[in-house]
Amino acid sequence: MWRSHELRPSYDVVIIGAGAHGLAAAYYLGQQHGIKNVALLDKNYLGAGASGRNTAILRSNYRTPEGIPFYDASLKLYECLSEELEWNLMFSKRGHLTLAHSDSSVTGLRVRAENNQLLGVDSRIIYPEEIRALAPAMDLSPAAHYPVLAALYHPPGGIIRHDAVVWGYARACDRMGIQIHPFTEVTGIAVENRKVSGVQTARGFIQAGAVVNATAGWATTISRMAGVPLPIVTHPLQACVTEPLKPFLDPVIVSATLHVYLSQTDKGELVIGAEIDPYQSYSMKGTLPTLEQMATYTLELFPQLHGVRVLRQWAGVCDMTPDFAPIMGAASQVANFYMDVGWGTYGFKASPIAGKCMAELIATGRVPPLIEPFSPARFQNGRLVGEKAAAAVSH
Ligand SMILES: Cc1cc2nc3c(=O)[nH]c(=O)nc-3n(C[C@H](O)[C@H](O)[C@H](O)COP(=O)(O)OP(=O)(O)OC[C@H]3O[C@@H](n4cnc5c(N)ncnc54)[C@H](O)[C@@H]3O)c2cc1C
Repeated sequence: MWRSHELRPSYDVVIIGAGAHGLAAAYYLGQQHGIKNVALLDKNYLGAGASGRNTAILRSNYRTPEGIPFYDASLKLYECLSEELEWNLMFSKRGHLTLAHSDSSVTGLRVRAENNQLLGVDSRIIYPEEIRALAPAMDLSPAAHYPVLAALYHPPGGIIRHDAVVWGYARACDRMGIQIHPFTEVTGIAVENRKVSGVQTARGFIQAGAVVNATAGWATTISRMAGVPLPIVTHPLQACVTEPLKPFLDPVIVSATLHVYLSQTDKGELVIGAEIDPYQSYSMKGTLPTLEQMATYTLELFPQLHGVRVLRQWAGVCDMTPDFAPIMGAASQVANFYMDVGWGTYGFKASPIAGKCMAELIATGRVPPLIEPFSPARFQNGRLVGEKAAAAVSH
């Protein structure tokens, strides 16, 4: 799939973090701009970060006029990616339902539906009768603890095979001659005259024309090495998977009120997720309280799942920004240092478009309009994006 290499003394671009974002940036640098003297460095195996731990939901039904076109462009790239990479990514467009259990949630979802429609994204409010037709197994009775009043229905949403995305991009990078170096931890960044000039790794020093921070949950540990502060805190996010069941659930179901979401894989397992752990940590261990929360709230929606066994539970670490929107762009404090971070609990779906835009920025020096609103400067000029309503639980 990809070859091992000795480190070269120098690369045009060094990307720290070989998750889906780092890999996508490398892929589009080579594929779109012919820049192939690129090294991807990861302290672990490929996909060891959140890219191999997420619940693989793709959607573009965000809330803000900045977020909606950005995520929509990513979904469109995903639609053609299996063909482009010649690798089956198993993208299954089964529709996405965000539930409303209160009048204020219905109002919030209506704003999202209208913003989506204005910007050409297929999403609309539906009510219990139509919800029942899409998810007949869900408890929609008015006597439920938290009755479902309505849902935001987003037909283009779905799930994908996350490992396949990582492997597909990695194989395509390798075929172009881009070098992938797993188990190569970055321990320092060299800055001379306010310019980043290279990185120190556990395998030696490398000179670099440009350095990209694509380390998600570890983003601040890397940016600190370059003297670039980031308004990011790291929280664990947990998920679990059950034993396989006969297929009974088509759409992805999300309830922000219950802090739970679930989908059924092609193999029949239920993949269930939660909100972030309430404390900052780099821990990637599951905890019993979160497992109990995921089970309790799943049973509120699907009481018949009582007794189903959980096969595995895990956690990844998420780089949370104050406005639940990512940070993409060049650092203002030092030259040649780029950031593709702040992906929180929702960044997997953005990997293709973020990678493509970051590659364009690095290759041309121009900021693509799609990522301009997500520049690091927004925290200085007070132009936050405000995506929390569509990103806090609905990953
Ligand atoms: C449980 C869970 C569920 C999620 N569900 C979804 C979802 O359904 N949909 C969605 O869109 N998003 C979801 N996300 C978020 C999504 O997974 C992430 O935002 C995304 O994968 C980030 O990708 P990345 O490539 O930026 O980072 P990562 O995949 O985390 O990669 C970062 C890499 O940096 C490496 N690294 C760190 N420090 C160093 C160093 N010093 N030197 C070298 N390498 C280093 C790490 O080893 C890691 O491989 C979820 C996340 C979790 C944890």
